[in-house]
Amino acid sequence: MGKLNVTVLRYLSKEDFRVLTAIEMLSKNHELCPGSMVAVVANLKSGGVHKLLKELCKHKLVSYERGAKYDGFRLTNTGYDYLALKALTLRGSIYSFGTQIGVGKESNIYTVSDEEGKQLCLKLHRLGRTCFRNVRNKRDYHGKRKKTSWLYLSRISATREFAYMKALYDRGFPVPKPIDFNRHCVIMELINGYPMTQINEVIDIDQLYDDLMNLIVRLGNCGVIHGDFNEFNILVTDEAKPILIDFPQMVSTSHENAKMFFERDVNGVRDLFKKKFGYESEDYPKFEDLEREDDLDIEVACSGFTKEMEKDLMDEYHGSELDDEIDDVSNSDDGENEPEDDEEMINQYKKQVENEVKYSEQSVKNKSEADKNNGILK
Ligand code: ADP
Ligand code: MG
Repeated sequence: MGKLNVTVLRYLSKEDFRVLTAIEMLSKNHELCPGSMVAVVANLKSGGVHKLLKELCKHKLVSYERGAKYDGFRLTNTGYDYLALKALTLRGSIYSFGTQIGVGKESNIYTVSDEEGKQLCLKLHRLGRTCFRNVRNKRDYHGKRKKTSWLYLSRISATREFAYMKALYDRGFPVPKPIDFNRHCVIMELINGYPMTQINEVIDIDQLYDDLMNLIVRLGNCGVIHGDFNEFNILVTDEAKPILIDFPQMVSTSHENAKMFFERDVNGVRDLFKKKFGYESEDYPKFEDLEREDDLDIEVACSGFTKEMEKDLMDEYHGSELDDEIDDVSNSDDGENEPEDDEEMINQYKKQVENEVKYSEQSVKNKSEADKNNGILK
């Protein structure tokens, strides 16, 4: 298991930060960013930028690649990590870094500490890293968003995870306490427990089975389905209580495939108990029996996600099994067209880089101020 390379957090200069931020902005509509354009957006002399880019390449925060039409730079995972971790450190949510405690399907998990020395859990979302090509091809075929990048997908994933975790935590669900997020990083309470995968003995098996099924029903009555309710995403504490984690793929009970998702979660628990403990029960929840008591799904949907974002992420998480249905129902263009390489766009990016730099120099202590800078539609 790798360690998070945080030494770069210390030695990078203000200019390095400017350059990285400029590439991040340009990545919204450039797979590769030409050096000259980076210089303009970073508002630095192009000769100087070249030297900076060379150093950043050496430290593997950016990479230089050859494209079909032109060559250019792109942010690496490490470069993007740096930007997020710097923001989280500046606003005091992270004080020091610990070690990697897990590798999920689409994430890396680390321990970190806050200023009081309290241990927390840091989740770095890593979407579309391996199947970027697939996603892009799919889009090209359908003639839709052509620049679905891992930066975008990872950021949406983390933002959704935080939004769901907060809505669940506020309602008293057994989930980690959400602490903060930025870009593709989420900071949450570190749970003292083990994933179900590592648990082979349970004192009261009926109780755990009931707790899990009741959890699925309680979620359903709030209008949501976890969507990946498996033994890796259920942590069990020393008191034998289940804690649910991993939320970016959650869906509304109003989703057209909701029944299928719900049954998959329920059957997952049934199969797991049968396989692991030889436990079978005829008592399990049915989708038809859900009674809506709350609109958690709507609350999260209202926190700023567009339909487009939802669809991109669902494609990524739930895959091709849903492709046809999704494409059928959502052909509406929400007007989010790709911006052109015009002066206006460049000026806009320039301004955003200035804002990021100013914000990073203020060393924001005030979280509500910081939250504004997390604007997911930025
Ligand atoms: P992925 O989306 O990649 O599956 P998860 O959120 O499921 O990522 O996390 C992967 C693993 O990291 C989990 O199976 C668990 O072992 C560990 N983990 C995640 N969040 C926490 C947490 N808050 N406290 C303790 N361990 C955690
Ligand atoms: Mg998981």
